[in-house]
Amino acid sequence: MSPTRLPLLLASIHDVSPRFENEVDRLLELLQPYVGTQIAMFVVPNHWGDAPIVPRSPFANRLRRWADNGAEIFLHGFYHRDTSHHEAAGDRFRAQFMTAGEGEFLGLSRDDAAARIIRGRSLLEDVIGRPLDGFVAPAWLYGTGALEALRDCSIPLAEDHFRVWSPPSGRQLARGPVITWASRTNFRLLSSLAAAATLRHAPLGVLRIGVHPPDVRHARLVRSIGKTFRTATRKRRAARYSDLFLRA
Ligand SMILES: [Zn+2]
Repeated sequence: MSPTRLPLLLASIHDVSPRFENEVDRLLELLQPYVGTQIAMFVVPNHWGDAPIVPRSPFANRLRRWADNGAEIFLHGFYHRDTSHHEAAGDRFRAQFMTAGEGEFLGLSRDDAAARIIRGRSLLEDVIGRPLDGFVAPAWLYGTGALEALRDCSIPLAEDHFRVWSPPSGRQLARGPVITWASRTNFRLLSSLAAAATLRHAPLGVLRIGVHPPDVRHARLVRSIGKTFRTATRKRRAARYSDLFLRA
């Protein structure tokens, strides 16, 4: 098969923030042999309100270099932490039990979501000196307000756990679950290892793999991540999210 016809692999590093600078370095070292510079970085402007990205700081300069070298830069929430009060019981359950309070964009109104997107985008575009590639909500959780705000702000690309889409047109660009690892509890860790072992063989046109800073603290997860990328790149071409627009 010619390389351009191969199914795609999209790699992402979540929670890129000065708080996790060492972990992000280790993840880059782990992924680069497989995907080179075809990596999407999901960046949090001020993780938990006490890890701000300051323009012209050493971390901001590194972010710009990563972007200059080919990484795609996505805004990934603003604080990452869920600070809103959820009216609906279902949302409250999802926010607390699925994400340990990290679903920042689940309970925001349209205006509040838009304000955080605009503020985060302006900061990151100032730092990287180019337009943002997209937005991904923390824990992939979007409330109605967040979805409306993405359209209002003309964010070109967004993803949740099951799909990638372009908010201005609503066009779906890829579908299928993201392979990702969890380490908050032993049960989640074991489930994520089992899911990765199965999903890395899934016959999807676009396979997404997302890694998180805490993953590097667990040798079993690091081994599983390496094996998943090794397996996936045998039959797939590492690509950029924006390449999805070029596919028919
Ligand atoms: Zn995150």
